[in-house]
Amino acid sequence: MSSELREILINSAYIVASIMFVLGLKMLGRQATARKGNLISGIGMLIAILVTLLDRHVIDYTWIGVGLVAGTVIGLICARFIKMTSMPEMVALLNGFGGLASLIVGAAEYFRIRGGTVFPDHPTFTLTVIYLTILIGGITFTGSVYAFCKLAEWLSGRSILFRGQHLVNGLLVVLTLLSGVAYVVSGNPEVQLIAVGIFTVLALVLGWTLVMPIGGGDMPVVISMLNSLSGVAACAAGFVIGNNVLVVAGCLVGTSGVILTNIMCKAMNRSLANVLFSGFGTAPAPSSGAATEGVVQGELKPISAEDTFAVLEAARQVVIIPGYGMAVSQAQHVVRELGEMLENNGAEVRFAIHPVAGRMPGHMNVLLAEANVPYEQLVEMDSINPLMPTMDVAIVIGANDVVNPAAARDKSSPIYGMPIINAHEARTVICLKRGKGTGFSGLENHLFMMPNTRMLYGDAKGSLQGVVSEFKSLASG
Ligand code: NAP
Repeated sequence: MSSELREILINSAYIVASIMFVLGLKMLGRQATARKGNLISGIGMLIAILVTLLDRHVIDYTWIGVGLVAGTVIGLICARFIKMTSMPEMVALLNGFGGLASLIVGAAEYFRIRGGTVFPDHPTFTLTVIYLTILIGGITFTGSVYAFCKLAEWLSGRSILFRGQHLVNGLLVVLTLLSGVAYVVSGNPEVQLIAVGIFTVLALVLGWTLVMPIGGGDMPVVISMLNSLSGVAACAAGFVIGNNVLVVAGCLVGTSGVILTNIMCKAMNRSLANVLFSGFGTAPAPSSGAATEGVVQGELKPISAEDTFAVLEAARQVVIIPGYGMAVSQAQHVVRELGEMLENNGAEVRFAIHPVAGRMPGHMNVLLAEANVPYEQLVEMDSINPLMPTMDVAIVIGANDVVNPAAARDKSSPIYGMPIINAHEARTVICLKRGKGTGFSGLENHLFMMPNTRMLYGDAKGSLQGVVSEFKSLASG
């Protein structure tokens, strides 16, 4: 095959793959089409990989084969054994490895040019994209590893602030920029080597120090921002090696990550700058005993499964508000069963979904879809809140931060301004949790002590099974 024909074939296949990525992304936006969208994007990626192997620059397939087999085995193991609740950690790691891969591509290209085997047509452009690939890849790698350690609770989820932190970070950024300029404009191989060493190390340090002051409650935003950065790094790597489909895929990941980051910031009513630099979560939680404004006082009033059944049996409007605890106890199937029983009993049932409930965007949607809860019963926060005063019962299943009224009322609360589902406005609120555990932000929740709230203690799945069996015994006479 002539090299011209080969180029045309490769680029045509890249266009097909890019169209499939875009179509797949579009379909991922709706639950009904999400699985198909995932498949279409996956096939697009397979086409891109296979066609790239035809590239005339590939002279030996040994290591590519080893990489493909190792990646496939690791991917299969992850898909089989990683729990749904650990998905955010996995996404953090995948983002990190994406960043590391870009860094390695940038470094390899640097050494190729330094070795004198490559003479770039546009040296300034090539050196600039190598710099950006290493810089963004490095920040993404260590930032993601730190986010992983926080999510996996290997490191404290609280934000870590020290005096002069912004100054130190500012200094690191300036040094990174200066070493980048020295690398691009100096033209001296020795200066370039030192500059590359400096900005590689600084990028790795910056990733760590930028994520350090961000509290656990803000991790969803950080993960989606790092996801976006991993896309930008891949895009830059695409320019470095002149691979069009990598540029397109990197752009898509980069921009969709920015859009998701924006949605998450809106869901918490905070700006990205506030998330990144405010040190959210540094103030001691009220549970530490400090007598601060916003201390939560009151009595927790337990309720049994039998009494919960009695309340629900009389209810006509019921809203179920799932949170992270539902994911932990894997209660989604019994939640669906309870919903069906309530409907059979004449109640109208809705599932209220908060955009950052759980530990990853769409976490609750995924679990409820897995349990075959009808899509039409899922209601978004903005749509359910106006209806909340008309609800006879709100059942809060392992949710805490996303129903914390302090976010709306207590100006001293670190989560003040974050939109919540107004569970407290329902006539009766039944909260399912195991004990007095706080939510991800570490804050107490006044909802649990309100006069209209009752606490159904225990693992959510077990508690719900208790209520469901009461309904079953009613049905069996
Ligand atoms: P949450 O605030 O983390 O609260 C979860 C509650 O579930 C805890 O209070 C816990 O209390 C209870 N729980 C845990 N295991 C349980 C079990 N087996 N059975 C019953 N209850 C159980 O959850 P959320 O209201 O869903 O809020 C999500 C939080 O995570 C937000 O702060 C959000 O910013 C953050 N976050 C979100 C994402 C995302 O993308 N969605 C990612 C990372 C972080 P007990 O210990 O007393 O049982």
